[in-house]
Parts: sequence; C-alpha cells; structure tokens
Amino acid sequence: MDWKNLLDDCVDFSRRLVQTPSMPHEEAAIAALAVAEMRRLGFDEVWLDEVGNVNGRVHGQDRSLGAIVLNSHLDHVDPGDLDLWPVPPFAGEIVDGRLAGRGSADIKGPMAVQIYSMAALLGVGERPRRDVVFSGVVQEEIGGAGAVHWAENVDYPVGLIVLGEPSDNNIALGHRGIAQMWLTFHGRSAHASVPHKGENPNFALADFLQKLAAAKPSLSSHPLLGQTTVSPTIIEVDTHSPNVTPAWTRVLLDFRTASESGNSLQALVHQWAGDWPHAITNAWGAPPPPFADSDEMIYGYYTPPESEAVQKARAAITQGMGREPELMRYGFATDGRHFVPLNVPIIGYSPAEEEQAHIAGESISITKMEEALRGHVELLRQF
Ligand SMILES: [Zn+2]
Repeated sequence: MDWKNLLDDCVDFSRRLVQTPSMPHEEAAIAALAVAEMRRLGFDEVWLDEVGNVNGRVHGQDRSLGAIVLNSHLDHVDPGDLDLWPVPPFAGEIVDGRLAGRGSADIKGPMAVQIYSMAALLGVGERPRRDVVFSGVVQEEIGGAGAVHWAENVDYPVGLIVLGEPSDNNIALGHRGIAQMWLTFHGRSAHASVPHKGENPNFALADFLQKLAAAKPSLSSHPLLGQTTVSPTIIEVDTHSPNVTPAWTRVLLDFRTASESGNSLQALVHQWAGDWPHAITNAWGAPPPPFADSDEMIYGYYTPPESEAVQKARAAITQGMGREPELMRYGFATDGRHFVPLNVPIIGYSPAEEEQAHIAGESISITKMEEALRGHVELLRQF
C-alpha cells in the first residue's frame, strides 16, 4: 500500500469537500462531488436516493455477509461570525498539519477517510472481506431525516455500521438518548390585583424546580454511557399581560439518559410535581422517537464492549493503527440513534476530535487521518 500517495489524495478530496459548503437542505453540490469521486475511484455501484443521500458500494469477497456501512453526513452547521475564524471557513487551508474549515472535523475529513479506505483496497486490486457501502446522509444537523430515510429503506443485509462522528481514533460504543417533555402546571387566572381569587401556577413551578435541583445528583446512571441529566430550558405562561395571574405555566425538560424509560422519567416528574394539577406531554409532538409511554430504555445507541462486533473491530483497528483504540462514549447525539431499529452493531470510529465539532476555526489533524486510513483498511479486510 502506498500510504503517502493515498493520504495525499484523501486530503486533497477532503479539501474539496470543505470548499463545497453544504448547509442542511443544500447538500446537492457536495453529493455530486462525492458521486463523481466514487465513480472515478472505481466503486462498483454509486447512487443517490430520493432524499439526496449518497451511496457507494464496493463488492466484497463474500457477498453473502452483511455489509459494513461507513456512515457520514453531508451537511454541517453554520460558520457563524466570520471574524472569529483564523482562516476562511470554506477555503480548505492546511495550517500546522491540520486541515481547517467548517465541516473539516465534523465530518468531511472522516468522510474522505471512509471513501479512501475503500479506494485503497481497489487501488491494489484487493477486495474487502464483505461488501462495504459508503452512506452519506443529508440533514444530520437538523434532526437526521436523511438517516431515518436510509434506515427505513435499506434493502440489503448490514453487519456493522461505522459512524464517522469525531472519536479521536477511538471506538465510540454509544451515547445517551434525548427525551424532551413539557410539564404544564394548571392554575386559575385572576386579575393580578386580587391574587387570592386565582391559583397562581408559578408557585408550583418554583417548588418543582427546587425539587428537581435537589434530585439531580441522585439520578440514575448507565455504567458506560453516563448519568442521566435534566435541564429545564424554556418556560412559558398562557398570558403576555403583566397584570394577569396565569392560567397555566409550563417548562420544557430536556433529559439525556441511557438508564431511564419514558415511563420511569414521567414517574419521576410526577413525583417532583406533587399534588398540584399538572400534565406531561411530548415536546416533539409525535412519538415515537425517543420519548413515549414505554418501559424501553431510552438510548441513543449502545453496543456492548463485550460484543463480538466490538471485539473484532477493535482487533482489526489495533492491527491497522499499530496501537489499541480506547472504548469510549459520545457526549453528543448522533445519527446512530436512527439506526437502532435495524438491530445491527453500531460503532463510532473517526480521526476527528470531539472538541473540534461546531467551533469557529474547526480543524482535523492530517496525522490522525493517516492513522484512521490504516485502521479502516484493516477493518475492511478483516471484519
Ligand atoms: Zn457530525
């Protein structure tokens, strides 16, 4: 394998990806770039689906095995205030051994590594052990409609999904799930000059928030994915008039958990809310994902460290990189949560660093991209 040339070509491609802005709903140009590159590299099949997701397949030696899917997203977040950027966000400049620009770490550098690890084998006339499919999905940054569509329509067996989300060349086994709910306290409105004639629900909310603050340290934990957290975020009342006791007041509760279910979270909230008349509703309008009346644990995704897929992937990546990757969890949410219904192992493996995602001056280490190329190539050979 000519690693030097491979890395040069991979970095050149990732620069062109960064130079092609792709905000959510504006992914057509970058999709076309990825399609052209995969065709040029000799992928066996390259196609776009109805929603604009890009797919590229390289056939494996044993086509009866479930495919490895290398998943990235095509979009990125807004660059924000351009004055905060040390380099222009869409120039694709290389500074001190790092490719800089919006999307370089999240997720265009990792995406280039995924595609070029497939190309690496083709380039030396070699085939991966099983089929490998690159899957670049739209709209990850605004909820994941592309990933949902992909998961609902995938029509081939899948043996492993690898997320390109930043993991610093370690293996990410999962992350907590999100459950957002409105808690509404009902009172009785009255003229603010005669508060005794009404029931002001703001007092109930104040009591509730104190109980919630006191309960935070004792919330449940998942051994690997971490402790349940809750943030009260938005607070609203039914009136905009300063001289009216509100009829209701409500607070949005943002839970992150891997050790509670929809029902157990609701039970906690009812307990903290006490006897004051109140109601809990799903903040996302329609269930199911991810908060509903259910006893199922709310995960983002979780692949146990002792599972065969993790063991095999870790062994192959260790051999490729020449060092053992750590097993870790993501702090943020990923499209991995949309792949859970497929019931296949999901891991994150990516050269980007988590703290680079979404910041001004975002960048990715080219040395780490090379290490990830080596890890991916061995994964494709062995898994
Ligand atoms: Zn991302």
